[in-house]
Amino acid sequence: MTDRSSAPHRGDSPIGDVPAAEFRAAAHAAVDWIADYLENPAAHPVRSRVRPGDVRSALPASPPTHGEPLDAMLRDFHATILPGITHWNHPGFFAYFANSGSYPGILGELLTAGLNVNGMLWITSPAVTELEELTLDWLRQLLGLAEGWTGQITDTASVSTFYALAAARERAGLDVRTQGLAGRTDMPRLRVYCSEHAHSSIDKAVMALGLGHENCVKVAVDEQFRMRPDALEAALAADVAAGYRPIAVVPCVGTTSITSIDPVPAVVRIARQYNCWVHVDAAYGGVAAIVPELRYLLDGVDGADSMVVNPHKWLFTPMDCSVLFTRDPATLRQAFALLPEYLVTRTPDATTNLMDYGIQLGRRFRALKLWMIMRAYGAEGLAERIRHHCELARDFAGMVHFEGGWEITAPVTLSLVCFRHVPAGADEATIATVNAAIMERVNARGHVYLSHTKLDGRYTLRLAIGNIRTDREHVELAWRELRDAAAVVGNAAS
Ligand SMILES: *Cc1c(COP(=O)(O)O)cnc(C)c1O
Repeated sequence: MTDRSSAPHRGDSPIGDVPAAEFRAAAHAAVDWIADYLENPAAHPVRSRVRPGDVRSALPASPPTHGEPLDAMLRDFHATILPGITHWNHPGFFAYFANSGSYPGILGELLTAGLNVNGMLWITSPAVTELEELTLDWLRQLLGLAEGWTGQITDTASVSTFYALAAARERAGLDVRTQGLAGRTDMPRLRVYCSEHAHSSIDKAVMALGLGHENCVKVAVDEQFRMRPDALEAALAADVAAGYRPIAVVPCVGTTSITSIDPVPAVVRIARQYNCWVHVDAAYGGVAAIVPELRYLLDGVDGADSMVVNPHKWLFTPMDCSVLFTRDPATLRQAFALLPEYLVTRTPDATTNLMDYGIQLGRRFRALKLWMIMRAYGAEGLAERIRHHCELARDFAGMVHFEGGWEITAPVTLSLVCFRHVPAGADEATIATVNAAIMERVNARGHVYLSHTKLDGRYTLRLAIGNIRTDREHVELAWRELRDAAAVVGNAAS
């Protein structure tokens, strides 16, 4: 900790910034540290070991009166912040979906911070708008989507989905934009459909759009956890008969628990009959379509209205970067565009003002990092890395499958494996306890980090591969640690 009783630092000067020389030295040190860190993130325990309150209580409760040197902050970063970090960059990070920063992405973030521009209007930084449009058109091409899709970058899939459903509500033609929902006698119940395994961001968008959570309809799935078209059709027909108004269907390409793939072509066909907007949630799985032999994942998407994919999940882009693609930007614009006098500019009409397509006015320059990643790896490099993760997942699934006392609990469609230990004769409750104990034991060791889910009430472990630094050795290590933990947990139980 710094000695705050010492003489005031020159950062305490009432005018101007910290001296450039001091920034230069600290920034060089930080970049060197980042490179060292990423050469060997496994030097740290993947899951943080701090207890609640440790980080906060180690730091002063009030801000310093006098400015402190940047060095002092870097020291606290190492001593206090770092132990409180769970390392998403760690090659043994298999919990949730990966989110690994890559060197070109980090470089882009650094330059973005340096420029610190706000791309709310085209004129407030033409390159922000134009590079975003260009980069997302590159991404569209990589994903094999038809021309006619346009994209915008948001912070998260949750926000992308919220925007898409706002557009769906707008397209329903009920003039919610002007009249709102409340107090209207002419307003039917508006319904949104997704599978039982859809992400909670759909529920939240429905709630935040004022549609009411009970109007987020969960459609039944088949034995491979995919939305059942017949169940969707039945739900839509029943709702229309009840006087409700279906406005959107949200199929998922790569569900969060198990990466199941909803049948988008069938969903699109049915949704069209009911004039529903189709929003495809491909937050995690979508980028796999960059791999030519996995392009089928997005079959049918060209008939949808919008799709979200998250480069910050499986495209090695530092948090945050989500992409909302739509084939109907005019409706999205109609939902959000509003032009107060102080934002009127005299730029040509052909230019896009990104503020017109969502809630936020101010906009970070997020396209830079994504553009740099695409350039650094190229289409083939990106495909090769994603393909490799899928291969590692299949290898891991093979090891589990051929080991007595273990089972695979969902089809391995991408780079996620759902599996569990099944001790002989154990009932469901015992299996849940045993697997939770195995997971906790493995996670506490600090080399790998896994998460769990429940499938039809059955406790299941998840190993999600997607970190740019993960290779075979890390997956093999995970498997060794799991079997060792199972042996210990088994001995303790008997
Ligand atoms: C991760 C995920 C989300 C939410 O992503 P955020 O960017 O964190 O909001 C939504 N849908 C699916 C399928 C996901 O995997």
